[in-house]
Amino acid sequence: MDNSVALVTGANKGIGQEMARQLVAAGLTVYVGSRDASRGERAAGEIGRDARLLVLDVTDAASIAEAAGQVGTLDILINNAGISGDGETADHEDIGTFRRIYETNVFGVVAVTNAFLPALRRSAHPRIVNISSGTGSLEWATGPQFPHRGTYAAYRSSKAALNALTVYYAHALADDGIKVNALAPGLRRTDLNAAAAASDGDPAEAAAGAVRLALLPDDGPSGEFFSWDGTPVPW
Ligand code: NAP
Repeated sequence: MDNSVALVTGANKGIGQEMARQLVAAGLTVYVGSRDASRGERAAGEIGRDARLLVLDVTDAASIAEAAGQVGTLDILINNAGISGDGETADHEDIGTFRRIYETNVFGVVAVTNAFLPALRRSAHPRIVNISSGTGSLEWATGPQFPHRGTYAAYRSSKAALNALTVYYAHALADDGIKVNALAPGLRRTDLNAAAAASDGDPAEAAAGAVRLALLPDDGPSGEFFSWDGTPVPW
């Protein structure tokens, strides 16, 4: 993968930083997307020489344009930046919370993806990975065993929307050879997951699942949803 270039949004900590670390270990140059320059600088410094800070707030059009202007060819875009919310059901949730979460988890992905498409089109093997959540699966949500019936509606519906966009982008970009897939990272010990217990999964394990999708061969899948361990997740 020498000379390949990746961008991970929200890579200053959590699963995103682990993805950046693993991509650098695989021989890539990685832009560490961070909305805060000092947090991103520190994260890139921890990863090593081939990790470079790219200041990028996925909700800010000027920041996205500025970042896209600094990248020539991009082989891999991982849309990882995300925020969670409270556990409310839709009927009790504040509309402002819906808007805030969608702004990052849905509209941010559209804005960043579209801005970096020219750079991805310059790649011989372009890949996009959207970091979704198994809680966004409608098939799982409507199953009898699902633990979150109706709760976390704003976050979970944002990930269901991201899943839909994964399919639509995969179809729209197929002729350009750009593969687009979604990943369910599983429950991980990060700042996003306030209830994370020591027994919850290692973020590095989830990152490995994303890296696998980022490095898919040309005959690999597109427009699909995978768990961190490579097994398919139903939409
Ligand atoms: P995290 O540790 O909280 O990291 C989230 C990252 O997103 C941070 O770098 C954060 O930056 C960044 N971010 C948030 N808003 C942003 C914005 N407007 N612009 C740019 N960056 C922004 O959480 P994580 O668990 O690693 O989450 C990574 C992804 O995995 C998310 O999409 C999340 O929904 C998904 N996920 C996580 C779990 C889990 O159990 N942890 C489960 C399923 C899915 P700041 O430091 O500046 O806030």
